[in-house]
Amino acid sequence: QKAEWAKLVNEPTMTSDGHHVELAANIGTPNDVEGVLNNGAEGIGLYRTEFLYMGREQLPTEEEQFEAYKTVLERMEGKPVVVRTLDIGGDKELPYLDLPKEMNPFLGFRAIRLCLDMQDMFRTQLRALLRASVYGNLKIMFPMIATLDEFRQAKAILLEEKEKLIAEGIAVSDDIEVGMMVEIPAAAVLADQFAKEVDFFSIGTNDLIQYTMAADRMNERVSYLYQPYNPAILRLISNVIDAAHKEGKWVGMCGEMAGEELAVPILLAFGLDEFSMSATSILRVRSQLKKLSKQEASRLKEQILAMGTAEEVVNFVKKTFDLN
Ligand code: PEP
Ligand code: MG
Repeated sequence: QKAEWAKLVNEPTMTSDGHHVELAANIGTPNDVEGVLNNGAEGIGLYRTEFLYMGREQLPTEEEQFEAYKTVLERMEGKPVVVRTLDIGGDKELPYLDLPKEMNPFLGFRAIRLCLDMQDMFRTQLRALLRASVYGNLKIMFPMIATLDEFRQAKAILLEEKEKLIAEGIAVSDDIEVGMMVEIPAAAVLADQFAKEVDFFSIGTNDLIQYTMAADRMNERVSYLYQPYNPAILRLISNVIDAAHKEGKWVGMCGEMAGEELAVPILLAFGLDEFSMSATSILRVRSQLKKLSKQEASRLKEQILAMGTAEEVVNFVKKTFDLN
């Protein structure tokens, strides 16, 4: 099986009826790019920049960040690279920021909330990204967006930094797509409004599931409620994809779900454009997609969305696609 998968390294991801989807990888550091290329990813769907900020005594400089982003973009040779701006807080702490302890860190001062408040830090990252943009195909994505206002503010700050760099005579790419993670239920519900303003969405199921089910993604005692296949989650995902497509925008998924064998036919049925996962899952999923028909899968969409429980969905998908 591994040998069969290895043959797919240089192939585009194509379903049996000739529909192309993009298979991308999630990375945490420039060192991960080697694995991305070895596994034949068509791009990077999520570069988690938190690791640049973690395990050290102070914030990374603009120069350090620029080097990291440039390295990744150059090594990807023009393939799309979605870089997520700092998503700190929740489970990921930065001791040197010296932030007060919170009762509910996952519902607290984190990610874009923190970046819109600590703007010097945010602007430094954006400048590093903008300067790196001329070395490849950069897309910028904001994490944990709950309201349109947050997206507008973040984008406005990005454009301000871009204008400043241009005024300083520094080269910046003029076709950087700007998108957002959909990982808060409010954004998933209101996706039709967001879709008018973003260039793309990437669905973060790791958080979207925990927030929708009100079940901490790290708490064993409520893990039975952490249900990717709950129809409530699937309706949100489907809503996001439909809303984006109505506005001609593309949708990816960078949560763990994107690489799950059971999720792949469902997401194909819903019309997901890009699947981003750990590099080691790419060839397995490419091989699976090759055997699936987009047209046949999409006929099951309404039926799946009309189900009442995760169990029903799981049993149906297993039976229909002969999975165990
Ligand atoms: C997610 O929430 O699904 C996601 C991809 O981001 P993270 O796991 O880094 O929170
Ligand atoms: Mg997340």
